[in-house]
Amino acid sequence: MARRTVLVCDNCGANIEDNKGATLRLTFSDARRGAKQADLCDNCAGKLPGQAVARRGRRPKAAAA
Ligand SMILES: [Zn+2]
Repeated sequence: MARRTVLVCDNCGANIEDNKGATLRLTFSDARRGAKQADLCDNCAGKLPGQAVARRGRRPKAAAA
């Protein structure tokens, strides 16, 4: 996906400055539904549900099954 010059929050429409904001990527369990993605400003991203995810490294054993 091409990077846009000016990012706009998909939720509230605010401009997102460089190195600000977040990208929400949503993947359906049913692969046929594909995925969707939203650019969010810091404000909106902070209000969304979700939990911190480790970037890399070992996974807990429970998650490996
Ligand atoms: Zn926003």
